Amino acid sequence: MKIWLNDGLRDVDSARVSVLDHGLTVGDGVFETVKSVEGRTFALTRHLARLARSARGLGLPEPDLDEVRHACAAVLEANPLPLGRLRITYTGGLSPLDSDRGDQGTTLVVALGEAARRPDSTAVITVPWTRNERGALTGLKTTSYAENVVALARAHEHGASEALFANTVGQLCEGTGSNVFVVLDGEILTPPVASGCLDGITRALAVEWTGAREADLPLDVLERADEVFLTSTLRDVQGVHRVDGRQLPGAPGPMTTKAMRAFDERAADDLDP
Ligand code: PMP
Repeated sequence: MKIWLNDGLRDVDSARVSVLDHGLTVGDGVFETVKSVEGRTFALTRHLARLARSARGLGLPEPDLDEVRHACAAVLEANPLPLGRLRITYTGGLSPLDSDRGDQGTTLVVALGEAARRPDSTAVITVPWTRNERGALTGLKTTSYAENVVALARAHEHGASEALFANTVGQLCEGTGSNVFVVLDGEILTPPVASGCLDGITRALAVEWTGAREADLPLDVLERADEVFLTSTLRDVQGVHRVDGRQLPGAPGPMTTKAMRAFDERAADDLDP
């Protein structure tokens, strides 16, 4: 497996990052996961724009997006995979422990793993911890994912594959790695970005392609919704057949299936050249 590290391709076993790298010592890094199909990326321009936005939000030096694009192409070419997940990580170089040594640059890693098509529906739980819709990191895709790791572990303990958060005012927000949609009275609804959720790329496409409406939703909408579905880069659209103790038989329901079809039909056309 070849990965990109800073300025070129390396064997993954010989690629080394300093133990004083910011990403390890303080967690100020940003990342993106990009889907690839037969070596072609999906929505790379949107992912790179979000990477740059997240980096700016953390005060990291502006990433050179042409270089990141080149690194992605090189990694995809070096590791042919039918369905892949490109992981782009960009951190603030060496940690403040070394600040007397001046500017230590940044670290860029691009790696590729295999992706698998997800089941059409899954179980989710809600967790008691909140997303902060007013935090300094809200909306940034930083490498500080520990809270998501804890919530996801809780989901796994309950036989679920995703955990959903409310925000500090009790509104439905998002999952650990996905955005959430509900169908209520025939209408598809999703929390606005102001709820504290990530500005998901799949979410934006789902809104565009299904006509879903953004709305503030109390967490207990999950007890009333006719259908619930998740969106993310590696799921596209995935139905939900259980939320905590509540079964949603027949998932994926008709509106979710419509959203899935929109993805199947349109996403193939939208692969990057
Ligand atoms: N929310 C969080 C917290 C995520 O990590 C992700 C995955 N990137 C998403 C939502 C979905 O975003 P996207 O559709 O861009 O993958």
